Amino acid sequence: MSQKSWSDVVREREDAFERAVVDAMRQLMQGRHMYQSIVIPNHIDKYLLMKDGKNEQHNHTSITAMMTGHWLLQGPPAALGAARVCVCRPPDLKLFCQHSRCDRVEAFNLVYAKSLLGDLGGKADFQTEKGESEQKFVFGYQCQSCKGTPEFFLIHRRGLRLTLEGRSPMEHVAVPAVIPKSFHRFYVGAVIAHQSGHTLSGIFMLRTLIEQWARQVTGSTKRDADQVMEAYMETLPKDFSDRFPSMRKLYAELSADIHGAVGAPELFDRGRQIIDEHFDARRLFRLADKAAGPPAAVASEKPELSA
Ligand SMILES: [Zn+2]
Ligand SMILES: [Zn+2]
Repeated sequence: MSQKSWSDVVREREDAFERAVVDAMRQLMQGRHMYQSIVIPNHIDKYLLMKDGKNEQHNHTSITAMMTGHWLLQGPPAALGAARVCVCRPPDLKLFCQHSRCDRVEAFNLVYAKSLLGDLGGKADFQTEKGESEQKFVFGYQCQSCKGTPEFFLIHRRGLRLTLEGRSPMEHVAVPAVIPKSFHRFYVGAVIAHQSGHTLSGIFMLRTLIEQWARQVTGSTKRDADQVMEAYMETLPKDFSDRFPSMRKLYAELSADIHGAVGAPELFDRGRQIIDEHFDARRLFRLADKAAGPPAAVASEKPELSA
């Protein structure tokens, strides 16, 4: 095995850094939600040097310059001897296409890429108050199946931190088919709030969904929501209540979270799952989903549950 030259090592590290940037951009747009961030590892430019029997940490200064400097979306191959600049052009993505002809995950091609802060006439570089490079990138992606209007993303770079700060159209939220149509807006609102970092608001929307549903089914106009939940539970067959988590209990848990202004992500995810299961179970038990009136009338029907 021949030993790698110093410049080979440096070039490999430079390539690795560029890949890390591009991969962070891909992950942000394909798998993360609004206002989430990815921080690129900051050790790519570091190496250890043995001196007087001790390891000393040094930087590859050319790589450090590439990490901290202005990034380009495209660039000619670096000229011999010239300092390398990070070129980050994100790849094609798999995204959910909201076009009625698709309505599923499809391949999207990058059709537009712009660095906004590098384009304001003269001043190529902006910095945060901490002195980190600051850039804003816009990317447009088009569905390869329907060739519809491209979707756009805004990524904000502060140093090595990339944050998804814009998205048009809004991220698609899949609502389970078992959730009644007129309750979709509470469900979608809850998920969008949670995904944007406002879990407390999301928990409030989940609780609103449950309460409004219970009011519709029972026809109750009582002010005290606990009594409404009580009445709702009585509309469910005993077998149903034995097998599935209680909506009254979930309501109480969500309320406790709201009163304490907690906004626990764990509770949100669990609450959402319990609600999904609850409506799915109503379907299995063939409980009427058009409410008002005593749904208990259908309670005598045998549920079609597989073991
Ligand atoms: Zn499409
Ligand atoms: Zn979550």
